[in-house]
Amino acid sequence: HKAQLSDLEIAQAHRIRPIQEVAEAAGIPDSALLPFGRDKAKLSAGYLGDLQPRPDGRLILVTAITPTPAGEGKTTTTIGLGDGLNALGHRTVIALREPSLGPCFGVKGGATGGGYAQVVPMEEINLHFTGDLHAIGAANNLLAAMVDNHLYWGNALDLDPQRITWRRCMDINDRALRGIVLGLGGPTGGTPRESGFDITVASEVMAVFCLAADSADLQARLGRMVVGRSRDKRFVTAAELQAEGAMAALLATAIQPNLVQTLEGNPALVHGGPFANIAHGCNSLIATRAALKMADFTVTEAGFGADLGAEKFFDIKCRMGGLAPDAAVVVATIRALKMHGGLARDELGREDVAALERGFANLARHVANVRKYGVPVVVAINRFSGDSEAERRRLRELCEGEGVEAIESDHWARGGAGATDLARRVAELAGSGQSAFKPLYPDAMPLEDKLRTLAREIYGAADIALEPAAARMLAELQEAGFGGLPVCVAKTQSSLSADPALKGAPTGHVVPVREVRLSAGAGFVVAICGTIMTMPGLPRHPAAERIGLGADGRITGLS
Ligand code: ADP
Ligand code: MG
Repeated sequence: HKAQLSDLEIAQAHRIRPIQEVAEAAGIPDSALLPFGRDKAKLSAGYLGDLQPRPDGRLILVTAITPTPAGEGKTTTTIGLGDGLNALGHRTVIALREPSLGPCFGVKGGATGGGYAQVVPMEEINLHFTGDLHAIGAANNLLAAMVDNHLYWGNALDLDPQRITWRRCMDINDRALRGIVLGLGGPTGGTPRESGFDITVASEVMAVFCLAADSADLQARLGRMVVGRSRDKRFVTAAELQAEGAMAALLATAIQPNLVQTLEGNPALVHGGPFANIAHGCNSLIATRAALKMADFTVTEAGFGADLGAEKFFDIKCRMGGLAPDAAVVVATIRALKMHGGLARDELGREDVAALERGFANLARHVANVRKYGVPVVVAINRFSGDSEAERRRLRELCEGEGVEAIESDHWARGGAGATDLARRVAELAGSGQSAFKPLYPDAMPLEDKLRTLAREIYGAADIALEPAAARMLAELQEAGFGGLPVCVAKTQSSLSADPALKGAPTGHVVPVREVRLSAGAGFVVAICGTIMTMPGLPRHPAAERIGLGADGRITGLS
């Protein structure tokens, strides 16, 4: 019974092709590859340059309903759809984020898809991969060291030690490092002050990495990053500390996109990985642009629900990168919709059409939201073995009632062959020229109004409530010339609102804006709404407890 194997067992039982073979089949010349072992390679900068004159293919975004512990399967569906398109003879490349160790060892597990829709080598992509996340952490921490070193050697820039905002980072969930005191140990230990760690995927360096157009732009963005304020409240940048050159050097290899393969041997670029709740949630612009040049169709995923991942993909990444998506796929599962309809996780096994009907409001809202961007959309129903006939029929009817087509897809159990219905329809839609993409708000809208627009249009809120410090910071940023930047909301992924307990499609709520931060290098203003941690903790029983290394050298228990 193949469906009873774990994701890891399926991946390990599979014969992975040499990466040169995958590249050759995808029309990528051998000279373009910088191999990392047998089955991973980076694409050379020279090759990325050679691609430039080619026309862009079609861009397809995979997004989803509000996540529940029942699982929606965006990554799995992105991979399955890519394999389905390739199976139909469409040259397709998928572009995914690289996994963070935080979720791998925490609650969720890996991020390489599942069942028969996976990218491989599964263990390596999930753990260390080609080292990009470590390089990003090192670049971030080099700047942190240079900030404290600057204080130590006389503080010529007159940085206010109490207003340094640059934090250290690490790619492990470790709540004990959220708040720390630095500089202990007497006069040679530096200047004592409070600071803390963020998880690497929440760092501005990760955002810069994912929004940079090329290595020159990467270095320029790193230089624009603000580390804190001087005693007279001036924003002090990494360039003033002369840090951006060394940071860019640390990222020189990492910034080149990683090529791997799906279980069906199709090409996948897996590069950059900001979280979507506390960061902007999509893979690198460099990888997406390369995929668009390499293939007729590019399928990419944005993290969490469409209120977070898709919104930021459209309003931040597409706006900055000049991308125009041709179609969007909203992934839903019957199980997750029943949870939105009020069922507990242990009640999902039994048929409950009424719960499905109640939970459908969440899917309908996300579909309506995506349409506000002018992008044509279909719903992909990711098939689970427990979905009943009556539930499946009812979900198709409900979607029809909203004027959106719902297509069942069985890629988790059957790979690309299970996704050909979805692939056929998505190819039609993306090729139809129907898309009239536009971001939700114009650049020129004041920052506060951008936040209000997002809250009302996307989250269904009545309004925002700015805490005094957040209101002050917004006014200062507007005044200092940062008003034209898009906003990146950090909020819970578990609700369309800022309150994780509000399931379904809440309306009339108020979105609390606790804090506002400037990410001048990434080129957005971060608004922290509700309680949201930029350094997650581990659960009582982390996934790490179940992971091991077998005597044969194989990793076990990774899910
Ligand atoms: P997302 O990208 O939305 O977070 P993933 O694609 O990573 O979700 O899937 C989460 C988990 O759910 C994976 O372990 C995957 O194997 C499992 N999963 C996805 N789709 C199915 C399905 N149709 N049936 C059973 N398990 C599934
Ligand atoms: Mg995912």
